[in-house]
Amino acid sequence: MAYVITEPCIGTKDTSCADVCPVDCIHPAPGEEHHQQSTMLYIDPSECIDCDACVEACPVDATMSEDDVPAELEIFREINRTYFESGHDAGEKMVADFLASKN
Ligand code: SF4
Ligand code: SF4
Repeated sequence: MAYVITEPCIGTKDTSCADVCPVDCIHPAPGEEHHQQSTMLYIDPSECIDCDACVEACPVDATMSEDDVPAELEIFREINRTYFESGHDAGEKMVADFLASKN
C-alpha cells in the first residue's frame, strides 16, 4: 500500500507534507528539479511507509491512503505512480488530462 496525493493539491502545493515525511518520498520538494513548474506534489509509492504524517499536515486534505481514494479521484493512484515510473512530464500530462476531462 502507499499514500496518494490527489486533486486539492493542484494549485495549493504548499509543501507541508514534504516537510513532515520521514522518508522524503514526496517530490518535487522545494529546491528540487521541477518544483517550480510542477502543478502538484507526488508520493513515490515504492518509498512510502504508510506513516500517515502527511494526512494531518495537508491543509486541503489532498493526501490519503490509496485505500481511501474516492472513485472520482481514482486516477490519482496512477498519476502518483506514473510520476516516478515515467518521469515529470508524464505525470504532469496525466494531471493536465484529468483537468481537461472535467471541462
Ligand atoms: S504516509 Fe508517511 S511516508 Fe507516506 S508519503 Fe505520507 S508522510 Fe511520507
Ligand atoms: S500539504 Fe497538501 S496541498 Fe500541500 S503539497 Fe502536500 S499534498 Fe499538496
